[in-house]
Amino acid sequence: MEKEYDIIIIGSGVGGGTVADVFSKYVQKGLNVLILEGGPYRKKGHFNQRENDMSSIYFNKGAFLSKNLHIGLAAGNTVGGSSAVYTGVSFRPPKSVIENWKSSFGLSFLTDDYVEQTLSEHEEQLNIKELPESYDNDNNRLFKKGANNLNIEIKRLRINVRNCQQQGFCNLGCTVGAKQGTLELQIPDSVANGVELIYNAWVHEITSHSVKFNISKAIAESEPNKWKEGLYEFGAKVIVLAGGVLQTPALVLRSLKNLSIKNKLIGRYLSLHPVFNLNAVYKEKIKNFRGFPKTYYIDQFSDTEGYYLETSFYYPGITAKNIPGHGKIHQDIMRKYEQMMSILILSHDPSEYHNRITIDKQGKPILNYKVNKNVKESLTKAIQRAAAIFFSAGCTEMIIPGTKKYLLNTEDKEHLADLIHSKNIQFERTPLSSAHPQGGMRMTKSVKTGVVNTDGLLNGTKSIYVADASIFPSSVKVNPYQTIMLMANHVANRIIANHFTEKNRTV
Ligand SMILES: Cc1cc2nc3c(=O)[nH]c(=O)nc-3n(C[C@H](O)[C@H](O)[C@H](O)COP(=O)(O)OP(=O)(O)OC[C@H]3O[C@@H](n4cnc5c(N)ncnc54)[C@H](O)[C@@H]3O)c2cc1C
Repeated sequence: MEKEYDIIIIGSGVGGGTVADVFSKYVQKGLNVLILEGGPYRKKGHFNQRENDMSSIYFNKGAFLSKNLHIGLAAGNTVGGSSAVYTGVSFRPPKSVIENWKSSFGLSFLTDDYVEQTLSEHEEQLNIKELPESYDNDNNRLFKKGANNLNIEIKRLRINVRNCQQQGFCNLGCTVGAKQGTLELQIPDSVANGVELIYNAWVHEITSHSVKFNISKAIAESEPNKWKEGLYEFGAKVIVLAGGVLQTPALVLRSLKNLSIKNKLIGRYLSLHPVFNLNAVYKEKIKNFRGFPKTYYIDQFSDTEGYYLETSFYYPGITAKNIPGHGKIHQDIMRKYEQMMSILILSHDPSEYHNRITIDKQGKPILNYKVNKNVKESLTKAIQRAAAIFFSAGCTEMIIPGTKKYLLNTEDKEHLADLIHSKNIQFERTPLSSAHPQGGMRMTKSVKTGVVNTDGLLNGTKSIYVADASIFPSSVKVNPYQTIMLMANHVANRIIANHFTEKNRTV
């Protein structure tokens, strides 16, 4: 073995960064920790706000398509993982979800005290707060106006930024490093405390005590490699998988023989929190590329109709993808880009057995996902609701992908329920997407129903842990990163307790 570590963490996103942060407090006491990140190290100076260039921050340029082509997944492939591109919208997990995880899946560590204390500490660390109204852009103001006119309750989102310069291009990487994701916070802090980081280091396989990876050439707009390109195998007492929902199950499936485990639940019970982006056209210009892209949301229909509505701002390329039609029709709509307001629907999907990650012959992940019938119903209700908000805020046209009559005008606003129903929207032909995948390596108390135990230990192994969004037993129903931190923090503390305390004689 070329090098030996106490702990190797695979992935530097929200899960990987959180565990690295916990472990870094033990480095002074002798714990040696390495993070292997498959993507390049782009720092704030490498982000240029150009959609085409920045799409390379993501796996498959931001759209990892499901096998049936019904949905595209966005996930970061860079130091910081998806936290390098996320918007920083911060939700605590709903109490009802935590109660369900305790009662149905045995996650008894989620006591009120643990949840409250850990979330509060992270909120302090990440500076999670509501932004002042001066950060609202035109899009947010119109959302507020439309909802107020309809007496729908809107709430202010909590965001994790410091010194935000209101550039609005959060999903292409923050050029001033304002977002408090792992790229800006936990990774540099951990490295400063002595944790090692190797980037451009793609892990192909693991065994129970080693990691096999390849260091590739650094891309031009990123930090140079400190290690030579080539194949490596490093040893570790403990390995923590934090490659995210798409890649962690794939890595385990590639490594099954080495680990001598069998578990038909690996990769299953996936939920994607499907997102539907809607646009409407107004007479006036709408300035969205300044201010903060998201400051309001609506959760009033979460329990009854199964979705949240949030404000959003998308760039011309991604908007073009979200607009139906082609040729002149598409061009005519896109010419009105500067007059467009946008609303994001986030629907609650169940974690179903058949929705899963598998691998192809090369060991690459395949996303198998069917949009559930109830999710289509709830998306339809959400589109009706969003349409009402657009029109009550004064839009002249609203665009609905996946329908024959995809342009609604002001005369249609009295007939929204007739025009928007699940029978005339072909969700399979819409740009449905996901940025919040969860599950696949389900955490449960019983080994019969899950993939990892309540410490995050991969069932059937003694030293492989999982600490990313894949361990959620079901969808958390809100933007997930605070919950990922909550879960990863627990896994990191259990690793220390199980392997590196005085009693266990390692540190
Ligand atoms: C555009 C966008 C906007 C979002 N906005 C929000 C938001 O506002 N609020 C919110 O709560 N959530 C948001 N999210 C979701 C949130 O960012 C993710 O849920 C979260 O980052 C997932 O954490 P993770 O640790 O599971 O995986 P990730 O953060 O995706 O990290 C996984 C890392 O592992 C690396 N990796 C994977 N496989 C390997 C391998 N084999 N070898 C080496 N490295 C590997 C990847 O390159 C990646 O860096 C957003 C996501 C996207 C894409």
